[in-house]
Amino acid sequence: MLPTTLRDDFPILRETVNGKPLVYLDNAATSQNPTQVIEASRHYYEKLNANIHRGTHYLARAATEAHEAARNSVAAHINAASPDEVIFTSGTTDGINLVANILSLSPGDEILISTLEHHSNIVPWQMLAERSGAILKVIPCDEDGVLDQAAFQDLLSDKTKIFTLTWVSNAFGTVNPVREMTAAAKTHGAIVLIDAAQAVPHMAIDVQALGADFLAFSGHKVYAPTGIGVLWGKLDLLKSLPPWKGGGEMIKEVTFEGTTYNDPPFRYEAGTPNIEGAIALAAALDYVNAIGLDEIHGHEQFLIRHAAAALSEIPGIRLYGPAERACSLSFAIEGIHHYDLGTLIDQMGVAVRTGHHCCQPLMARFGITGTTRASFALYNTEEDISALTAALKKASAMLR
Ligand code: PMP
Repeated sequence: MLPTTLRDDFPILRETVNGKPLVYLDNAATSQNPTQVIEASRHYYEKLNANIHRGTHYLARAATEAHEAARNSVAAHINAASPDEVIFTSGTTDGINLVANILSLSPGDEILISTLEHHSNIVPWQMLAERSGAILKVIPCDEDGVLDQAAFQDLLSDKTKIFTLTWVSNAFGTVNPVREMTAAAKTHGAIVLIDAAQAVPHMAIDVQALGADFLAFSGHKVYAPTGIGVLWGKLDLLKSLPPWKGGGEMIKEVTFEGTTYNDPPFRYEAGTPNIEGAIALAAALDYVNAIGLDEIHGHEQFLIRHAAAALSEIPGIRLYGPAERACSLSFAIEGIHHYDLGTLIDQMGVAVRTGHHCCQPLMARFGITGTTRASFALYNTEEDISALTAALKKASAMLR
C-alpha cells in the first residue's frame, strides 16, 4: 500500500461535496493533478510563456527547451527509440484520429477492432472504412468481458491491414494480452495501434517490447491537465506517411506552387501546440516515476480486489469484467438504474461514473444501457472503498 500522505499532494482531495469529504472514484474518466504538476503549469506561465521554435528571444528559446525536454521525458517513460517518435496531441482521441487519417486503405481491406473499444477507437475507423471501402471487423468477448482469442485468430488474415486494441478496458477493467495479440497481427503484416489511455496511468510501458506501430494516451488520466496527449509511432513508419493537418510547424518550405513537409514529429504537430500541457505532462510522469509504477500498480490492485470483495456483499449486485482487472470496477444493482444510484451517492460525497462509458457497443453486447463504475488511482484508500460500500448500501435501500 502507498502512504496516505500522498493525498496531501492533491489539493482537490481536500474539497467537500454536499458537506461530505470528497471520495473521488472517477479516475478512469480523469485523474486529479498533484501540486507538482499544478506548479509546473504555473511556472510555465510565470516564467517561460512564449511561442516555441523559430524564436530568437530568450523566452522563445526557454519555452522551446522546456517543451522538447518534455518530449524527451515522454520518450524515456515509454522507452521510445527516439524522441522523434513522440507526437504531442490533445489526447487519445486526437492521436487515434491522426492515425486513421494518415493511413490509406483500399476497398475490401479489413480493420480489426474489439468489442471492448472506447468510441474513440471505433468511430475514426468507421469513418476510414466509409471513406475507403474497407471493412470493419470486431473481436467478440465472453460473459466476463474477456476477448475471444479463437475468434481473434479466425478474424485475422492477410486482408487485415489495421489492428487496433485497447490495452485496458475503461468500462470493465479487462487487461488484454496486447503483446501476444500484436505479435499475431504482425504475422499478417497489419499495422497495429494500441489505445493505452487506461494503461499508462497504471503500469510501466515499453513500446519497443510491445511490438506495435502506434500507441496513444491522454495526459489527463495520468495526473496531468486536459488537452495534452501523446501519439507514439515507429519512426520509419512515420517518415513514410503523409501529414494530416496543415499549417505552421509541419512544413519545410511553402510556396504557392507547393509545400514540402517537415520530418516527424513536427510533421504531425501543425499550429501552436499545448506547450504548458506538454511540460505539465512531463512533471506528471516525473511524479509517478518518483513513486514507482510497480508500487502504484500494487496499490491499485489491492484496492480493486478489496473493492470487488466488499461490493460483492451488496444484495443484487453484479460485477462486470474478469476477476483480474485493472483500474475500473463496473457493476449494476438489480432493479436500480445506474443514473439514480450515481446521483444518490454523489449526495453522500462519492464520485463515480454512470452510463455507457463511451462503450455503447460493449453495453449492447451485455444487453444493458450502462453500469456504475468506480475507478481507482494512486491516492485512493481503503477508507474510500468503505465510503463507497456504505453509500451504495444506503442508496440501494432507499431506491428499492
Ligand atoms: N480510450 C480509452 C480506453 C479511454 O478510456 C478514453 C477516455 N475515457 C479514451 C480512449 C479517450 O480519451 P480522451 O477523451 O482523453 O481523448
